[in-house]
Amino acid sequence: MTQKKIPKAIIVGGSIAGVSCAHTLILAGWDVVVLEKSYAAPTGSPTGAGLGLDPLAQRLIRSWLKQPQLLHNATLPLTIDQNQATDGETKVSWKLTRDEQFNFRAAHWADLHGLLYNALPPNIFQWGHHFLSFCIESDRKSVKVKAKVIQTNETKEIVGDLLIAADGCLSSIRRTFLPDVKLRYSGYCAWRGVLDFSRSENSETIKGIRKAYPELGNGLYFDLGSRTHSVIYELPNKRLNWIWYINQPEPQLKGNSVTMKVSDDMIEKMHQEAENVWVPELVTIIKQTKEPFLNVIYDSDPLDQLVWDNVVLIGDAAHPTTPHGLRSTNMSLLDAAVLGTCLEKWGPENLHSALQEYQSIRLPVVSQQVLHSRRVGRIKQGLGLHDRRPFDPKTASSEDCQELQQKKMPFFADVPLVVDSRYAQMTA
Ligand SMILES: Cc1cc2nc3c(=O)[nH]c(=O)nc-3n(C[C@H](O)[C@H](O)[C@H](O)COP(=O)(O)OP(=O)(O)OC[C@H]3O[C@@H](n4cnc5c(N)ncnc54)[C@H](O)[C@@H]3O)c2cc1C
Repeated sequence: MTQKKIPKAIIVGGSIAGVSCAHTLILAGWDVVVLEKSYAAPTGSPTGAGLGLDPLAQRLIRSWLKQPQLLHNATLPLTIDQNQATDGETKVSWKLTRDEQFNFRAAHWADLHGLLYNALPPNIFQWGHHFLSFCIESDRKSVKVKAKVIQTNETKEIVGDLLIAADGCLSSIRRTFLPDVKLRYSGYCAWRGVLDFSRSENSETIKGIRKAYPELGNGLYFDLGSRTHSVIYELPNKRLNWIWYINQPEPQLKGNSVTMKVSDDMIEKMHQEAENVWVPELVTIIKQTKEPFLNVIYDSDPLDQLVWDNVVLIGDAAHPTTPHGLRSTNMSLLDAAVLGTCLEKWGPENLHSALQEYQSIRLPVVSQQVLHSRRVGRIKQGLGLHDRRPFDPKTASSEDCQELQQKKMPFFADVPLVVDSRYAQMTA
């Protein structure tokens, strides 16, 4: 009897989408290689900060881990989703909406990545490999990828049956198919930071912030000021994660990243401005945070397709999004789960049907979620929309505030998976 050939996937990008896809493809019986340009697993990466995992994403991750309880240990509950307003002049805050059944969990990006990465078999990842180009063979059955080994400058060729683009919002693989698709600047940037208070748990700063935001450790706070908003929540290991969105013209980015280098002057100005906008307890947290960084916020109009022959886009490569619906990581995890189960269901001999099913399941969902997230961002930043007046927290009615809630995200609790898949029972 002839042995069946094991199909091989080449995944470009070893961040959350890439590492999740490695799990789901291995479960589907595929051989996997991940090409990642970073030199090594990013433990404690300086650009990493907080993210929120929805209940389905939590269940998917647990199903991929050898020790599922590790996810619980690496996260804190976000049971409450609260929107509140702050008057910059009087420093008075008041509640706009509160959802006590939010049920997300907060993780640090590097902790989540580490959990997923460490649960993979060894030798799948090729660190320090910069993807250069690919070509689909004429029979459309295999794909040849070229990558530069950064340390030696040598160029390697790898042949596989499937190329998975998990190379992020600036995806060069997406650009080869869609050279005209540009990222859309949102109109604002976000200062971000993580304050480590492991050595100052009993300080006035921490007592003060816990008093001002009593649900820290169990909830997610959005503070809306005048044409601006901020987010604060706690991360495991005594860390506070904050984000502050500021409307401004699009900055000039250098290099291939949406994170900007910031000068001491920029940080100083940001600290001064914080005093005009936020309550003193939050200002102190912002000021005491070492190395805050600035993300330029982009998304992209939904794409018409995610699949070309045996090349498929997943994660931020497939749907760059603004962060307001806590979607990027959750969408990436679900892309990986759906892709894996489509491949398993159809088998390698029906690869094109599998990829078409992946696209037909994910495209309508991610398209609506990206557009909704864009809308929520514009509302919270007091920017114009064609069907509603710019949001003003001082005059907003309770009806006006409904859209601020995370649970208004399309497909919030009923996102489609693949029928009969290993994850089917997780939909509820
Ligand atoms: C270091 C890091 C820290 C992050 N921290 C946070 C955070 O704190 N909070 C949050 O919400 N989101 C964070 N993100 C973004 C978050 O991972 C994504 O928004 C989301 O999870 C979707 O992930 P992704 O894997 O599709 O894209 P990304 O996370 O952007 O990953 C894309 C990956 O592709 C690799 N890559 C790109 N081009 C090439 C190439 N030519 N050759 C080889 N590899 C390539 C990149 O190095 C990167 O690892 C972070 C991303 C990174 C890379």
